[in-house]
Amino acid sequence: TQQLASPMRQVPTLVEQYKRSQAAARRILGLKATETTVADPEDPSPLESADGHVTYDAVTFSYPSAEERTIDGVSFEVEPGETVGLVGSTGAGKSTLIKLLLRFYDVQDGAITLDGRDIASVPRKQLRKSIGYVNQDPFLFHGTVMENIAYGDLDADDAAIEAAAKAAGAHRFITDLDDGYDTEVGQRGTKLSGGQRQRIAIARAILSDPPIMVFDEATSHVDNETEVLIQRNLDELTADRTTFVIAHRLSTVRDADRIVVLDDGTVAEQGTHDDLLAAGGTYANLWNVQVGNLDALPAEFIEHARS
Ligand code: ADP
Repeated sequence: TQQLASPMRQVPTLVEQYKRSQAAARRILGLKATETTVADPEDPSPLESADGHVTYDAVTFSYPSAEERTIDGVSFEVEPGETVGLVGSTGAGKSTLIKLLLRFYDVQDGAITLDGRDIASVPRKQLRKSIGYVNQDPFLFHGTVMENIAYGDLDADDAAIEAAAKAAGAHRFITDLDDGYDTEVGQRGTKLSGGQRQRIAIARAILSDPPIMVFDEATSHVDNETEVLIQRNLDELTADRTTFVIAHRLSTVRDADRIVVLDDGTVAEQGTHDDLLAAGGTYANLWNVQVGNLDALPAEFIEHARS
């Protein structure tokens, strides 16, 4: 009977993993299967290796059901290696900009380019391989910790996997688990805490070593100690790659090279934290709310918040 139980522990086949990853990607981005309607280019030009130079050029987009434009003429440029914070209230369009970059939807006007090429001309698989995505509810599959990290690069050896786990601040808790890296994570990783799942997802993304990384509130479930650790590592992780950080807590993006403030599908302002504070606009107001500096808020802002 021991043996009867063992097939449950089989490593998922590549086909299974591939299907799961597609399903996971859709789930991660909150998409239904039928929503992935973009066509692969008829004459795709392969992307050798991306530098991670991204531009949004007058991008306009509406969801099929939307009455107003979800993204309305958004333009900004991200240099290779730059870290950009995307901030703005819920529904401002932050996640949608990332979904468009991953080509889960096509822009209706304007263009997004990667290294000077319209992403619509890049094979979708290559495009998505160039972008590591870590969100607040990462997808783990039934398997071991090792397998879940290795998914980032199926050719990686144990040393590389361990290095990625260390960089993600995951190595210590993993070695404390009963079976260490061989611990089964349970269905969708339920045997681990939210913060632990997230750190494994970060390790997976690090292992895949993409030129572009997206953190969507990546540290939201993580306890304070881990957050400090990840913040410290984040500098290292993001040093040589283009990084987008979608943040609700402005402290997360305080040190970003640039912060793009979205409001109702448009870019309200952009600049460094210091620039934006000095400008005294939307960002400065949000910052003053988050740090509890309510006296600094203009009266009309308070009126607006009350209404
Ligand atoms: P943010 O990430 O800044 O909170 P989103 O990009 O998720 O904002 O959403 C922007 C707008 O698009 C919101 O009004 C939201 O309700 C709408 N929206 C998001 N996803 C969908 C979808 N799949 N279908 C229709 N509308 C959507």
